[in-house]
Amino acid sequence: MKGCGESNSTPGPSGHPLLKKGAYGQSPVLMILVNLYSGFDDWAKCFPKHPTERSTPLQNTDLITRIVSEVIKELHPNTQTCANPAEYGIFPTMETAIAQAVIAQKQVARLSMATRDKIISNIRKKTIENAGILSDMAVAETGMGNPIHKRAKHELLAAKTPGTEDISTIAFSGDNGLTLVERGPFGVIGAITPCTNPSETVLCNTIGMLAAGNTVVFNPHPAAVRSSNYAVHLINQASFEAGGPENIAVSTTKPTQETGNILFNHPEIQLLTITGGPGVVTAALKSGKRAIGAGAGNPPVLVDDTADIKQAASDIVAGATFDNNLPCIAEKGIIATQKIADELIHYLKQNACYQANPQEVQSLCETVLEHKNNQVRLNRNCVGKSATELLKMIGVTTNEEIKCIIFEGDEDHILIREELMMPILGLVRAKDITEGIRIAVKLEQGHRHSVHMHSKNVDNLTRLGQEADTAIFVKNAPSYAALGFGGEGFCSFTIASRTGEGLTSARTFTKSRRCVLGDSLCIR
Ligand code: NAD
Repeated sequence: MKGCGESNSTPGPSGHPLLKKGAYGQSPVLMILVNLYSGFDDWAKCFPKHPTERSTPLQNTDLITRIVSEVIKELHPNTQTCANPAEYGIFPTMETAIAQAVIAQKQVARLSMATRDKIISNIRKKTIENAGILSDMAVAETGMGNPIHKRAKHELLAAKTPGTEDISTIAFSGDNGLTLVERGPFGVIGAITPCTNPSETVLCNTIGMLAAGNTVVFNPHPAAVRSSNYAVHLINQASFEAGGPENIAVSTTKPTQETGNILFNHPEIQLLTITGGPGVVTAALKSGKRAIGAGAGNPPVLVDDTADIKQAASDIVAGATFDNNLPCIAEKGIIATQKIADELIHYLKQNACYQANPQEVQSLCETVLEHKNNQVRLNRNCVGKSATELLKMIGVTTNEEIKCIIFEGDEDHILIREELMMPILGLVRAKDITEGIRIAVKLEQGHRHSVHMHSKNVDNLTRLGQEADTAIFVKNAPSYAALGFGGEGFCSFTIASRTGEGLTSARTFTKSRRCVLGDSLCIR
């Protein structure tokens, strides 16, 4: 890991707006503030601890709060004064976070659509400006993933997450008057986020939820709290700068399963949005609240006799190695029809794949999986690691650049059955397309999340699409085309596989409201 200031991706975060010397002219009050914050210059260059964890110079919070209030009043006479901008949406307890999101939602509900758009534009801008630091921070904090790919994910979400344009009104008019069906906000949404896309999920969720007029309380994954909370901080900074309220997204300093349960049971939370593994989605669905459940996937990719095999190999490696296989949509196993299996393996090797022998596969099983209380679990130290790191863990060194580990196995092989989230792809041979489809459906395991296929035969493609019944089906492209990355369509990092909404966007976070006006306004 690089030391402070050595990050080789983007420049440091934009930091607090009031820290930008000269940003607001030479106000004497501001200069006092800048001096008080002067210790933060380094913070902006490093992977930050959240500012609330710093001991100095923020201990004099009363004074700072007073000065900040005065400066803000001077600069933004019409906006709500920020209670403590250093915290920007992060609260010591979940209860306080929820209370603040409730206050903010009342303000958000009264914002014009133009102001919501302005805030969202600023969130997009800050996401792009901070894509490098957010990515480096997530890799440093979680030990998972590839910073260059994470950066691409941030840029993608900034460009392609839908905003207010996603929400439309339906009108009926006739002899009896006019009826509008409007999409209104739920209110305050409780969101659980994963460690695999920590800041991406926070930013993407907030854009859609805010566009729909909601505020959101996050309970981030404990292993990714800094990255997630830094995104929350940027969101509120963006809102404040754009003339919106603070606390449009909030979080807590120490998220746990218990704080998650507070969200599940709190009367002020009207909707839950859960992005994570099967356990947390099931827990939320049992809460009695309406929940959007974006659960686990184990996407197989089927390659049939008619596919462009060279292109299929290149696409599969690109998709399966993106962010070291962390995305839930990434290819997790290959099924190849017997006729083309050898050719596919040949091209996979040409695309920087290492074919593990049976002994090495056994070592991988022992390394990447843990057996506890008769249950198999992933070794968290291996999740999101690169192929080279994984090979090193089993004692294999190679001079070639290796992107992915492949091996041949049967459809019940544990490394093919489990959702590994690391660049290891087992390949299963199928005698024909019928058997290939059967195995693909079996390996998807009823998650109803994603399957992928390479084929030029429309009938074969249609059969898999019908039989797999998944939220996503990518054909003849890397899996990440489903996120709008090199594929058409909008971006989302919350794919509601379990509850059926599919890729979520602003409209997913709205409820239907019918407004009826009797006997008027029909001018046909
Ligand atoms: P995880 O399930 O370990 O954690 C997700 C979140 O749930 C964390 O914030 C965790 O603290 C919380 N949590 C777990 N059990 C809980 C419980 N009983 N009560 C309250 N909170 C609980 O998942 P992860 O390792 O962070 O992410 C990887 C998983 O998420 C994979 O299975 C992946 O497929 C899935 N995922 C799905 C999507 C999607 O859009 N469908 C997106 C990203 C990740």
